Amino acid sequence: MPNRTNLSRILNLIFSTVVILAIAPAVVAQKKFHIDYTVSIASTEAQLFHVTADVQNINEPRLELSLPTWTPGWYTVENYLKNILRFKVTDAKGARIEPTMIRKQTWLVEPKGLDRIRVEFDYRADVLALNQAKITGDFAFFTGTELFLMAANHRNSPSTVRFEMPAGWRIASALKQTDTTTFTAPDYDTLVDSPTEMGNFDLTEFEVDKKPHYLVTNPAGAFSKDKAAKFAEMLAKVAKADGAIFGGLPYEKYVYFYFFTQAESNAGGALEHNNSFVAFAPPGQFATPEMIIDTASHEFFHLWNVKRIRPAEMWPYDYSRENETPLLWVSEGFTNYYGNLALYRAGLHTRERFIASVADAISGVEGSEARAYISPANSSVSTWVGYDTPLAFGISYYTQGQNLGALLDLSIIHDSAGASRLDDVMRTLFRDFYQKGKGFTTEDMIGIINRLTKRDYHDFYRRYVSGVEVPPYETILGYAGYNVETTPQESFTIGMSIENTPQGPIVGRVFRHSPAARVGLRGGDHLVSVDGYDFKTESPKALARIEERIGKSVRLAFKRDGRDQTVDLPVDAQTDAGYRLSEKPNATPDQLKVREAWLKVGR
Ligand SMILES: [Zn+2]
Repeated sequence: MPNRTNLSRILNLIFSTVVILAIAPAVVAQKKFHIDYTVSIASTEAQLFHVTADVQNINEPRLELSLPTWTPGWYTVENYLKNILRFKVTDAKGARIEPTMIRKQTWLVEPKGLDRIRVEFDYRADVLALNQAKITGDFAFFTGTELFLMAANHRNSPSTVRFEMPAGWRIASALKQTDTTTFTAPDYDTLVDSPTEMGNFDLTEFEVDKKPHYLVTNPAGAFSKDKAAKFAEMLAKVAKADGAIFGGLPYEKYVYFYFFTQAESNAGGALEHNNSFVAFAPPGQFATPEMIIDTASHEFFHLWNVKRIRPAEMWPYDYSRENETPLLWVSEGFTNYYGNLALYRAGLHTRERFIASVADAISGVEGSEARAYISPANSSVSTWVGYDTPLAFGISYYTQGQNLGALLDLSIIHDSAGASRLDDVMRTLFRDFYQKGKGFTTEDMIGIINRLTKRDYHDFYRRYVSGVEVPPYETILGYAGYNVETTPQESFTIGMSIENTPQGPIVGRVFRHSPAARVGLRGGDHLVSVDGYDFKTESPKALARIEERIGKSVRLAFKRDGRDQTVDLPVDAQTDAGYRLSEKPNATPDQLKVREAWLKVGR
């Protein structure tokens, strides 16, 4: 207990601190730097956004404004400046101020005593893709990275965005809404990580843990009300299953943006954001809740893994250049693993299907020749060479990391005698890194696993993460009483995906250096026939024909821009490692305990 003198000194200290605190916020609030944006649809015909940035309370002689060169999650430099027209800086009265471009996409403005400037430009939005912006007569879409300028040293300043759009259009945004057309962001990173869609679309609202969730589907009518209701139910189950790992959902609202159409660049598929994701799904017969829930489950887990639990090299994001990290095998691979695990935990996939996904990941890694010389850590760093094609380097850190996710989960359960598992690693990364405002390193992760298991995992990481050794599958899956069997099978590849649309089958993705790429096929080409078998009416025969021509080629007829064309498409051989897992008939009680801990549903 303090004596009297000390007590009065302490009271004095408290008193003066209170006085200072009471005065300071009022002074700061008045002068706080912030940017008010307006985003208007200047022309649907010319596909132009008009963007103004009203920069207020400037109190510095030099202000650097920059536009991102890439969109987090899609690891490709796009240089959005390419789409900007009529960039202009003025003072409050409209007099021009000439900015100097000091780096690619970075302007230096010298306000010369002005506390307020206005920046405006037009943005050509003519590509519908995950990391691009698009305006049509029916809708407008952008992410934020394309339109919003970052002010150096003011990354944590708040901003507001007001939208102006054609009459009758509605709006859905991951940003926080304050009135019909005004939204806010607490900081720049939230601002550019929150997609917005305006126009005609279908909207389904549902609640999880009393938080609003919005399913936005475009074009209107493409995804029926029944399908949307069913899908919302499935999404809610996934949200609950994932939320249970982390003690709840760390956002105020969540938005699922769906485009049931073909992406207009190779940035198709789906992309995660802070409290939303954007996905392209093939229109037609595959646009069902059951077909699209796998991707949704993957993207949803990202709201923790990579958006919040983030490699140190990307904390904070450097929007001006590539952000290489050796940890994408965790960010993407564990997200694959948890995408499957959540579907199982949510009761949407069977236990058999989950086990098959684990075996498929082993096949994916072990069937690849490149696994012998590209480690998961190295394939993570190299993604910037070509994120658009996972086959660019022969092996994908998505599959490598999914495989390691299962192996680490089982090892941790085994080594901690069932006390811990990978969930605990993720929860610790969330609590001790994200919630403390920082990213994590490989060493941080090993430290967490070592503490949980009281073992040393450096050797595991040296062999299987930074190294290319084949993991001891029999041993680790044996912990849970599984046999690992393999029957390698020769299969074929033509290097492209085929998507069914109401107009018939079309080419989806074309993988680089593949047969389809070599003969110049492109996404969107309409497939007509193969060696005379019609793709629309005889598709099983057409596919069987391709399969029987391994090592040879087929005559492929297709239509591009309405014109008939043909190519001789080579059919390459590919080896499927054919891994399967089966339950050991004589599993020991210890093995059954590990299996039960691994496949337990609920807490
Ligand atoms: Zn992903």
